[in-house]
Amino acid sequence: MNPKVIIIGAGFGGLEAATKLAKEPVDILLIDKNNFHTFTPLIYQVATCALDPSEVAYPVRGIFRRNRNVSFLLGTVTAIDTDSQTITVEHSDGQRSEHYDALIVAGGSVYNFFGMEDVARHSYVLDELSDAVRLRNHILRLFEKAVWEEDSAERAALTTMVVVGGGPTGIETAGAIYELYNHVLSHEFSQRKLRARVVLVEMQDHLLAPYPHSLQHAALTQLRSLGVEVILGNGLDGVSADSVTLSDGTEIPTHTLIWSAGVKASPLAEMLGVELARAGRVPIDAQTKVLGLENVYAVGDMTYLEDPEGNPYPMLIPVAQQQAEVAAHNIMAAINGTATKQFRYKDRGIMATIGRKRAVAWLYNRVTLKGRLAWLAWLGLHLVTLLGFRNRLNVLVNWTWNYFTYDRSARLLLEQQQRIAKQ
Ligand SMILES: Cc1cc2nc3c(=O)[nH]c(=O)nc-3n(C[C@H](O)[C@H](O)[C@H](O)COP(=O)(O)OP(=O)(O)OC[C@H]3O[C@@H](n4cnc5c(N)ncnc54)[C@H](O)[C@@H]3O)c2cc1C
Repeated sequence: MNPKVIIIGAGFGGLEAATKLAKEPVDILLIDKNNFHTFTPLIYQVATCALDPSEVAYPVRGIFRRNRNVSFLLGTVTAIDTDSQTITVEHSDGQRSEHYDALIVAGGSVYNFFGMEDVARHSYVLDELSDAVRLRNHILRLFEKAVWEEDSAERAALTTMVVVGGGPTGIETAGAIYELYNHVLSHEFSQRKLRARVVLVEMQDHLLAPYPHSLQHAALTQLRSLGVEVILGNGLDGVSADSVTLSDGTEIPTHTLIWSAGVKASPLAEMLGVELARAGRVPIDAQTKVLGLENVYAVGDMTYLEDPEGNPYPMLIPVAQQQAEVAAHNIMAAINGTATKQFRYKDRGIMATIGRKRAVAWLYNRVTLKGRLAWLAWLGLHLVTLLGFRNRLNVLVNWTWNYFTYDRSARLLLEQQQRIAKQ
């Protein structure tokens, strides 16, 4: 019998670990609450009708169809017992326990509302693919409503979108919503002259915290030139179903708050029973082992490990993937009694797009790119790293089509159709 490795999470970390271990004499059980892997960098494009959900996700079973030693279980892990080395999974047929010889926990992160219940209740987030579809339906429904709305103030509220958080997800979403309005909806809803307003609110006095100053400034200029209203140095004070209030008392009538101002570790972290670090992250050592536990490794967004300067590694795809590679190596090293590996982050840079021909990139912590060049670099990188040839081809065709026609094909309100059909 081969040793059994359980991997929780088929995101970037979990998938990388499973791919590496699939070549080894171990039996792998990969568990995820979704039956697909999501390419998170592009889900904002699903929310803004540029791409279809199936183009940014890939079925997990399809990825490992040729690996006989990889099994997949669709379910949610609800408990981890590190003494008996078992986990509990809730799935469609009930609950089951699974024993492991080695465990990799790669549950990612969830949005952090910092205890603000009104924000949790009234906001939209972009964490999972289903969030993107929900936001897309919401925006399209509001525009359909606005075109028939007689009251001009309410009409304006329906087409006002507030994005909170000036990180990459916030600026990409704000830019893409404005372009959806500017290039598509404003032409199609022309009977009523709808005027969309996209407001981006950031508490600090600059956008994109980890970027150099010149790129923070470039991002701000590009967003404003697009038409997005950027409010800096002002936080969110409260939100209701029809308005957002900022710290300085400004009230913005709106039905749409998109929250992208903070994340914390997946609740899976609490199931490990160890003392957690900032943002509920699980402390790991450079071998990616959870501090204080045997045979348990953790990788990606939910982990806490400091770089040589004493800063925690960022919640990014390359970090998750490189940590997963180390975890897979070290599990085999423990089984075979060979040398272990230490995690050393190879940082190739960060980039964020703001809209058509607008982006910023900071490559290898040295080279700064902005505007068209950064945008082309962003397009190329995301196309190459997207999982599945069919998805890459579809996305390329869709982007080319959108670029030349200014159209967005993925904007069907399916949810509403289904409800009407059932009545
Ligand atoms: C909108 C958005 C855009 C982003 N853009 C970028 C970008 O451009 N570049 C970049 O480097 N990073 C980006 N990120 C961050 C990137 O997605 C994460 O750093 C990366 O996904 C971390 O990988 P992970 O394996 O730790 O977690 P994930 O990839 O999030 O995977 C976690 C998996 O665990 C599963 N899971 C969680 N809890 C359970 C449970 N209890 N039971 C079963 N399964 C569970 C989830 O379904 C998920 O599949 C973005 C994130 C978001 C949300």
